[in-house]
Amino acid sequence: FQVPTASNEPVKTYVPGSPEREEVLKQYKAFYNEKVDIPLYIGSEEIKTGNTKPLSPPHDHKHVIGQYHLADKTHVEKAIANCLEARNAWANLTWEQRCAIFLKAAELIAGPYRQKMNAATMLAQSKNIYQAEIDSACEIVDFLRFNVEYMSQIYSEQPESSEGVWNRVEYRPLEGFVYAITPFNFTAIAGNLPTSAAMMGNVVVWKPSDSQIYSAKVIVDVLKEAGLPDGVINVVYGDPVMISDTVLDSPDFTGIHFTGSTDVFKNLWKQIGNNIHKYKTYPRIVGETGGKDFILAHPTAKPQQVATAISRGAFEFQGQKCSAASRVYLPKSTANEILELVKKDIASFNKPGSPEDMGNFINAVIHEGSFDKLAKYIDQAKADDDAEIIAGGNYDKSVGYFIEPTVILTTNPQYETMYTELFGPVVTVYVYEDKDWSEALKLVDGTSEYGLTGAVLSGDRYSIDEATKALQNSAGNFYINDKPTGAVVGQQPFGGARASGTNDKAGSMQNLLRWVSPRLIKETF
Ligand code: GLU
Repeated sequence: FQVPTASNEPVKTYVPGSPEREEVLKQYKAFYNEKVDIPLYIGSEEIKTGNTKPLSPPHDHKHVIGQYHLADKTHVEKAIANCLEARNAWANLTWEQRCAIFLKAAELIAGPYRQKMNAATMLAQSKNIYQAEIDSACEIVDFLRFNVEYMSQIYSEQPESSEGVWNRVEYRPLEGFVYAITPFNFTAIAGNLPTSAAMMGNVVVWKPSDSQIYSAKVIVDVLKEAGLPDGVINVVYGDPVMISDTVLDSPDFTGIHFTGSTDVFKNLWKQIGNNIHKYKTYPRIVGETGGKDFILAHPTAKPQQVATAISRGAFEFQGQKCSAASRVYLPKSTANEILELVKKDIASFNKPGSPEDMGNFINAVIHEGSFDKLAKYIDQAKADDDAEIIAGGNYDKSVGYFIEPTVILTTNPQYETMYTELFGPVVTVYVYEDKDWSEALKLVDGTSEYGLTGAVLSGDRYSIDEATKALQNSAGNFYINDKPTGAVVGQQPFGGARASGTNDKAGSMQNLLRWVSPRLIKETF
């Protein structure tokens, strides 16, 4: 069978007066006042445990928009039991039947659910409409559509046979259940991790981030309407340590699909290692973790192009992208000009405010913990002799968790914020002598433990070639003359190695292959 050819969902513009703008604002207001009550989704049940936590918008943290119910150990066990009960029927559906559900989910999000997805993402994750649209309308649809196409290619890949011998491969799901742990920063990633494993015939226990539960609920509504059978994806929230301990203790645990912090991923990996004797099969461990993504400008790079790469790469989405530029290396000859242009950009950004204002470039960071961490590093840079704040540097959490886009300039290439992941709108710049290009390449490669994204800007082909060779392992997504963010599904599969993850590119056939355990059948006649 030929599945529909995937194409990227077009981004709507939301210009003033457009129907989509009216619609999203109406939905945002409705959600703002609704007082949502989000249950656990286990099998066919929606469970309200009574043990609840309030939900508040990060840009308006005194306002309560609803609550969600927390699981205890018995709920997690019940989620696992429901996975196992659903598994055989789900695994035995033909792949065409399974993929139809996800194609329908894509169309529901692109159509009737679009503004619910956007409003939930704007409200609970503090994204402006353009950020929400790219994430919770377009990218999630792209993941679903392209993964279906990759899935169909996987199933059609067969070995050679000969007269008298028929070889065939059955792409079986893993034997057991998959554990999906998803982050707050992208509704699209939260949607992708459980669905990509489920698409390949697996059953899933999904633990969304507490800060993304509102849009997770809308994803569940979509999947239900698309016809996903009960028990295929079970959703639990609560104490993350208790949930992971319970999941990883099960002999039927068969894989983890993770996006989140490096430390948490390393601990889970360790725990899986300690439990390895319990499992029926070696679990698949797939994770995308932290980043300390770079921009390196050559003296021949155009200052305006470098400045735009910094302003957009570091500050769009409040810098809360794993791919966000957070350390920058500029040549002395053009550094001042570039930094003046960046300062101009920052001055032109709208003041922080509610995503409802529609025009904000900068919104709140996700929660108080993140705000406090960023504020601490900003204060430290103000105090340190080898660093100074050259733009931004203000912060205020009285209404929302607002951090001004901030540029730290350091004279020390090993300054703490040149290697520590901050995950917010703060970037650190180091200026190198033009003649020290080779040294700059070594600094980029050697300063951070991560290897997610990076960008080299240059007008000189030899230097581009040198950088491409010298930085082979420094970035799984390597951008030439661009910013290091904004990977589009179907065009730039996303992921990195080193401390940034297992590099099983999100949105790729390679990723989907991690969720199957192929059986080769040789039949002789
Ligand atoms: N795919 C996103 C980008 O390329 C980043 C995803 C993430 O933050 O994990 O900008």
